[in-house]
Amino acid sequence: MNKKPRRGTEPLPVGKAPTHPVLGQAYPRSIVDWEGSTYALLPASIRRPKLLAVVGDTKDLRRAESDTGSDGLALCPLSADNLQVLRQRLFWLRPRLLGQRTGGGCGDRLGLATPGHVRAVRGTTVVPVFAQQSVRENVRTGRTPRQVIDDAAWGILQEGWRELWGADADHLKTPEDIDPFARAGFSFYTIDPGAHVDNEAHDADASVLAGKWSALPWTELRDSPEAMVSRYLDRTVRAEDLELVFDRVHLQRAACKYGRALAHVAYMYGQVVERLRGAPFEVEVSVDETETPTSPLEHWFIASELKRLGVQWVSLAPRYVGRFEKGVDYIGSLTDFERDFAAHAAIARTLGPYKLSLHSGSDKFSIYPIAMRHTMGRVHLKTAGTSYLEALRTISSANPGLFREILDFGRGRYETDKVSYHVSADPARVPAAASLPDGRLPAVLEQFDGREVLHVTFGSVLERFGLSLKETLTRHEELYYTTLQAHFERHLAPFSKNPTAQSSKKESS
Ligand SMILES: [Zn+2]
Repeated sequence: MNKKPRRGTEPLPVGKAPTHPVLGQAYPRSIVDWEGSTYALLPASIRRPKLLAVVGDTKDLRRAESDTGSDGLALCPLSADNLQVLRQRLFWLRPRLLGQRTGGGCGDRLGLATPGHVRAVRGTTVVPVFAQQSVRENVRTGRTPRQVIDDAAWGILQEGWRELWGADADHLKTPEDIDPFARAGFSFYTIDPGAHVDNEAHDADASVLAGKWSALPWTELRDSPEAMVSRYLDRTVRAEDLELVFDRVHLQRAACKYGRALAHVAYMYGQVVERLRGAPFEVEVSVDETETPTSPLEHWFIASELKRLGVQWVSLAPRYVGRFEKGVDYIGSLTDFERDFAAHAAIARTLGPYKLSLHSGSDKFSIYPIAMRHTMGRVHLKTAGTSYLEALRTISSANPGLFREILDFGRGRYETDKVSYHVSADPARVPAAASLPDGRLPAVLEQFDGREVLHVTFGSVLERFGLSLKETLTRHEELYYTTLQAHFERHLAPFSKNPTAQSSKKESS
């Protein structure tokens, strides 16, 4: 076989779709004819992982070792280098800005979920964030921002998504956190100043507040106590029907609680601008992972101060009332939540408009309609761990033995692994694997304690069982995708303005 010449590096004429028998084995939705070349993804087989097939312009693409270089076709590994070449050609493989559109964050800790996410998003009016991982999750999963965005892009290619999507560098706390995301081309930067929120100020008395007030970082805030007082003290501000009065205690409390955090956001924002070097990006500000709720008055203070400091953001995540535990529904009074959320939404419209962001948004089914109603779609939902739980659901039927090991291991790890999470499960209420017949294993994922235990132990589970877990999911990928699709349709339908989304999706998947 002739290995050297004519590998089809010369572009084929536009509009003339080339064909090749190999494309018959490709994921049907992955086949794309673009500017004279054809691209497709081939599923993994027993002998090799997934491959990229290119007919036409194969310049700059690195080929797989198994590629014999025959008849104008290149078979290429799904490497970062090859994806970089593809991104230059197929622009929809690059993340873009979501703006004020309703957003849906689809965090994927395993890097295998995007095709399932795509199927669920298709037909809705929700703009997806297919790459979304926090710094903490990267540490626990041993993945890099580059891998996260690349896995999402390959999934997008596989499932034929051509529309807008975003890539969220989630919970950035230090300037150093930004670099690997900026290099990998993320589009959405979530700044988390939570470590600088002074929760003590939440119910400190007036004398303590006075002390904290004078110790605020006034220089970093480009402000002075006198100037702040003149801007707020005894002012009544209005957000639609909502009236907020900045008396001395409320002003000082807001300033003491969030002052350092605001200075940090302004600093981080400058760092993002510098590191992005003119590339388009958007920012979210999140104070969701703090101990005490953000009152509407504090929200007003945060937003108006960030504006004064020149920060521009598309979404903001206050800490709402109630409990947002991982992978389970909202805990708290829905009436209280609705009152609180409506106030935040009015402020976001008055001072923005910007979106309200729902962090730890997985499985909060009871509040989705409230969130949609009060924001009229100016809302961003973030989910992450729930796709991992759907992976475990897949494992529970595809590989019950492995699920049993993960379950018992997770029960043992929970007390250690739960430390940085808001969870309240009692591991004693999670059944031991030996007590369950195979058919009852998926039911663990219907149980509150079971979900939380399996959710927060993902890091140690991946360390120990990651290879076999991913191997099972790859072998049963279709089952994983359909499981995810069903689960995500429940998440996205309440946020979609397209009432036919549910039915039209069924046939398109
Ligand atoms: Zn969060």
